[in-house]
Amino acid sequence: MKITILGAGVIGVTTAYLLAERGHEVEVIERQPHAAGETSHANGGQLSFAHAEPWANPLVLKKVFGWMFKEDAPLVLKPSLDPHMFKWTVQFLLNCQKSRCDANSLNLLRLGLYSKKVTEKIRITSGVEFDNSRNGILHLYTSQKDLDHAAVQAEFQNKYSGGTRIMDPIGREECLTKEPTLRHSERNIVGGVFCSVDEGGDCGMFTENLAEIAAREFGVKFSYNTTVERIIEEKGRITSVVTDKGTLKSDIFVVAMGSYSYHLLKQVGIHVPVYPMKGYSITVPSGDFKPSLSITDNENKIVVTPLGKRLRAAGTAEFAGYNHDVNEKRVAPILRATKTWYPKADYSEATLEKWACLRPSTPDGLPIIGRSKIENLYINTGHGTLGWTQAGGSANLLADIIDGHKTEIAMSGLDAARI
Ligand SMILES: Cc1cc2nc3c(=O)[nH]c(=O)nc-3n(C[C@H](O)[C@H](O)[C@H](O)COP(=O)(O)OP(=O)(O)OC[C@H]3O[C@@H](n4cnc5c(N)ncnc54)[C@H](O)[C@@H]3O)c2cc1C
Repeated sequence: MKITILGAGVIGVTTAYLLAERGHEVEVIERQPHAAGETSHANGGQLSFAHAEPWANPLVLKKVFGWMFKEDAPLVLKPSLDPHMFKWTVQFLLNCQKSRCDANSLNLLRLGLYSKKVTEKIRITSGVEFDNSRNGILHLYTSQKDLDHAAVQAEFQNKYSGGTRIMDPIGREECLTKEPTLRHSERNIVGGVFCSVDEGGDCGMFTENLAEIAAREFGVKFSYNTTVERIIEEKGRITSVVTDKGTLKSDIFVVAMGSYSYHLLKQVGIHVPVYPMKGYSITVPSGDFKPSLSITDNENKIVVTPLGKRLRAAGTAEFAGYNHDVNEKRVAPILRATKTWYPKADYSEATLEKWACLRPSTPDGLPIIGRSKIENLYINTGHGTLGWTQAGGSANLLADIIDGHKTEIAMSGLDAARI
């Protein structure tokens, strides 16, 4: 059975790898010249399997209106007349209700912990290298109120993590012991939440290396520099996709085109609630300065992850349509905050890399995985802020669905049938 995957980001490539490992003939179509050419290229590097609080939560709801007209706010949600954006915003605000947020958190947690298991298996069986650090993630707080809220969320998640404590609220001194380089920090750390099961790693490196392994070990065909233009439906089946290089036929098609999945699926009457949430990152050489784990700055909503000899900081969420440009005003707060945590890293302009890309976000913060209403058309998209974390789990769930196997975790809240 031939399976064609549209998009070679971390989601498309991981799906291709797992399907090919099971013996399927797989081809991947990608408009960029290599895998991970868009959102999966330079993200925050956190494999935050345990941290499951969606962006749509009651605290954000309280802050979002104040942030609306501040250009350097962590989340910029501007009212828009674009019907797709308008509908998305209404659904996002509805998902900020506590009951919905709790249900979404639980589904994120289930997928996150499952993804840890699958990612670990892929790491071992493929030998893929990606500057992986496995020392946990430390969420840092400079406000007692926010720390108290995080402690409540941590206990909520511990309760549903299958008997293992995955999140530990800790005091200031313990934070400094976990990450001694924070002793140089200028910030007033009041405490943190330590997630021992979490990891760090370079998503772009993982995706590019895994694509090479999939091609070499299992014969996956990668057609780069090829743009998908149209998808053709006849009698309830997708018969082909039209690209700028010609028409392609396949038994099964999987849409994994990140934020651009919306436009393609719309052609066949499927309206996925996926909207681009723009984010930024900076990467600097770490030189002799070596933090050992990834941190999250709760106040500024940024993450800082050591990746081999580099330090990657990422954050901000902005609804700016499909624009990929680097807006210096949005990068500045990331750089400023990173310097306050790690003043001793090397921030020379000559080596500082700035990057922007679009998170394929859903209003509930959960991805859309599974078969669409069209028999041979499958979807794996909408991973928003957690696509690197969820790639392994999402890919294996989809592979099980395609193979007609029972999935290892329940699909409620994740299934494509919910849209
Ligand atoms: C600033 C930032 C920080 C982040 N930090 C983290 C983090 O720390 N941890 C985490 O888990 N997640 C993080 N994320 C989220 C994560 O990066 C994304 O969820 C993930 O990369 C999405 O992967 P994807 O494969 O769905 O999308 P993409 O990587 O965008 O892949 C989709 C692919 O489809 C291709 N494509 C699109 N349209 C077409 C077309 N018409 N024809 C052919 N090809 C097409 C694109 O070129 C692209 O390569 C972050 C995101 C951002 C922006």
